[in-house]
Amino acid sequence: MSLIIKNIIPVIHAKWLGTDETCPVDNVSIDSRSLQNNNGTLFFALVGHNHDGHHYIPNLIAKGVQNFVVNHIPDMLEGKANFLVVNDTLHSLQKFAAYYRMQFDFPVIGVTGSSGKTIVKEWLNFLLSPEYNIIRSPKSYNSQVGVPLSIIGINEKHNLGIFEAGISTVGEMDKLEAIIKPTIGILTNIGAAHDEGFESVAQKISEKIKLFQNAKILIYQKNPLIDDLLDKNIPTFSWSFEDRTADVFITKTAPDELEVHYRQQPFLLQLPFQDKASVENTISCLMVLLHFGYDKAVIKERLYNLYPVEMRLQVKNGIHNCTLIDDSYSSDYQSLKIALDFLEQHKTHQQKTIILSDIFQSGFPVEELYAKVARLLTNNKIERVIGIGETISRYLKDFPGFIAFKNTHDFLVQYNAASFQNETILIKGARTFHFEEIVTLLEEKTHETVLEINLNAISHNLNFYKSKLKPSTKIMVMVKAFGYGSGSFEIAKLLAHHKVDYLGVAFADEGIALRNAGIEMPIIVMNPENSAFSAMIAYHLEPEIYSPTVLKTFITLAQQKNLSNYPIHIKLDTGMHRLGFEENNLDDLISVLKNNNFVSVKSIFSHLSASDGPEFNDFTLQQIHTFDRWSQKIVSELNITPIRHILNTSGIYNFPDYQFDMVRLGIGLYGVGNDEEEMKHLENVGTLKTVILQTKEIQAGESVGYSRKFMATQTTKTATIPIGYADGIPRSWGNQKGYVMIKNQKAPIIGNICMDMLMVDITGIDCKEGDTVIIFGQQPRVTEIAKTIGTIPYEILTSISHRVKRIFFKE
Ligand SMILES: *Cc1c(COP(=O)(O)O)cnc(C)c1O
Repeated sequence: MSLIIKNIIPVIHAKWLGTDETCPVDNVSIDSRSLQNNNGTLFFALVGHNHDGHHYIPNLIAKGVQNFVVNHIPDMLEGKANFLVVNDTLHSLQKFAAYYRMQFDFPVIGVTGSSGKTIVKEWLNFLLSPEYNIIRSPKSYNSQVGVPLSIIGINEKHNLGIFEAGISTVGEMDKLEAIIKPTIGILTNIGAAHDEGFESVAQKISEKIKLFQNAKILIYQKNPLIDDLLDKNIPTFSWSFEDRTADVFITKTAPDELEVHYRQQPFLLQLPFQDKASVENTISCLMVLLHFGYDKAVIKERLYNLYPVEMRLQVKNGIHNCTLIDDSYSSDYQSLKIALDFLEQHKTHQQKTIILSDIFQSGFPVEELYAKVARLLTNNKIERVIGIGETISRYLKDFPGFIAFKNTHDFLVQYNAASFQNETILIKGARTFHFEEIVTLLEEKTHETVLEINLNAISHNLNFYKSKLKPSTKIMVMVKAFGYGSGSFEIAKLLAHHKVDYLGVAFADEGIALRNAGIEMPIIVMNPENSAFSAMIAYHLEPEIYSPTVLKTFITLAQQKNLSNYPIHIKLDTGMHRLGFEENNLDDLISVLKNNNFVSVKSIFSHLSASDGPEFNDFTLQQIHTFDRWSQKIVSELNITPIRHILNTSGIYNFPDYQFDMVRLGIGLYGVGNDEEEMKHLENVGTLKTVILQTKEIQAGESVGYSRKFMATQTTKTATIPIGYADGIPRSWGNQKGYVMIKNQKAPIIGNICMDMLMVDITGIDCKEGDTVIIFGQQPRVTEIAKTIGTIPYEILTSISHRVKRIFFKE
């Protein structure tokens, strides 16, 4: 991209408040964390329900960003940078992208539908890349924000675009159409489900097909409902399993073989997959190849080589305390940029290494490409670059810290495990390089059981609770007990980005671990032990002070260490009777704190004992009023203005009128609400997964497991699964009370759960050794397990053993 500000002002109808209209713009950003923000960046300050890009502007100015598209100029910043003031920054980003798109004139494929969009896009990229320089949406960037960002990646060398568009309600597709302007349309599967956001299936279809209003051809599976709604002026190229009038008629000759009737002789197509969705997605790709006039032999060969698409960047534990970011299935310039941003957000160490293969399809001449890559690596402060492939080895050989290998095999042969220690490693390679072998080598060896943590779901849940808060209410998030079992550092890092105000941990060592991992925001320690006070001070952790004795001990220490105004948090016991000052301690508390400059009361709080039980609402209100009264007394007698807070998750949900100055969010962040209604708004965060170790068939009269608890009454197929009560699976979930999910079907747990294993009944489920087993996640939710066995979700989440590997991912 090479534009100057002057070109952009009229496009987005901005009011210009700046000094230099000739400033060049060579990239666009909406993410303040990206290390790629620099003086050529045009930053769009987007405003969401819970996120305001304007807040990050001072930081960005400090980093050298000069140009900002804003809704308003934040306080004190006028004159400090160039501002393009508009009414709606998202709308401007879209307008800008639409303008940028019109600078290019080459075929653009636009893909939409209810499912399969990303797979079809990735597969087309694979199928067509031998002949074209393709620009495509990275990952599944298909939203109102993702589409403009994808389009802005186009450069002069591209000669084919593939972009996906996803919408959730009426009115959105027109905007995406104006940006993508597809010349070739693909409608993938249109689900029969009546989605939220649309009144009817017909309305959903009508909205989606707006993407094709200016297309020169539309590829779709023939269907009377769609035909009725389609504008007759749009030329179509249709396929069908049933309707012989479709342009391409297809019959299934075997589960993995199709017969394709198109123009002359029908021909057979061997498929690498058998499931319905993959077959339909393969046909969408076939249609494009036919439309482009590819030869049958080439079509057959390329389609047979289609592969499963991994769309997520995964964070995994590596050997020697390394962290791996696994992006081993793609290597192009656009996705390298995204992966480097991801690395910056998720790194757990100062030291960063990248293992990178040759890069394909950038559209740039090689020299220019690698010069750009080198700049990217420098900006991202990558200490060590391991390049695998002949091209990258040639062009980056002078890059500081560069280590070259001709191919993956050479790397594997010369691999020295000891050279990887305490660092975050991004592994990014084109498919043909088979970097999954490198991932296997660098991955910490543990058993196959993993707890997958969905970081998008965490953000979603945080935003849900934020939407219940007044704008002025601060938020503390509890990450005690290893983030309710989900992992504390990764979550803390995400929360820091979302600008939550405080983190809460139970013990000092949890806080110290967060500090060591680079978390700088304020952290409260809820159960400070006297022995840990010195360490807490050293790491700037803020204690909860819950009794006169603790207060005096801490003040004595603060005095010895010459501290002044060290932040403390006063806990009042309004009825929980766990920790906290009681009414008769208040005068003592006030007199000790009066004229005391060693410590400063940052907040005063209390904890509700039954905010989730409607039958105790009177008691809860009484706690709240007691808290109000006692804290007012402290505030007025000490003449201070601390943050006051009392609500936990269910408090936020059930007693939103009593937010005071801050709330403390816990379990809700992790996707657990206390009733069906609340759960509807939350996304599932953790999925505990493992695999089938062995399957067996047992006969009537035979038994399974310890104490012969399960007796077969008929021939029964069983599977043994490597997870047991030592991993945190409650033993009471066994003996057919509980179940696991295999291939989307329930498999009841039979017999007693063992220490490291359990057995399930898989009669009637088509599965085999090595297949994935879901212990909990979307189904069963932890709430269901907890209810069945008579405990609470908190206990289940926090009991998952540390030997279960946590994997974090973002969609
Ligand atoms: C754990 C905890 C919370 C959070 O409770 P949830 O029910 O998980 O929201 C809030 N405050 C204190 C003092 C806690 O210990």
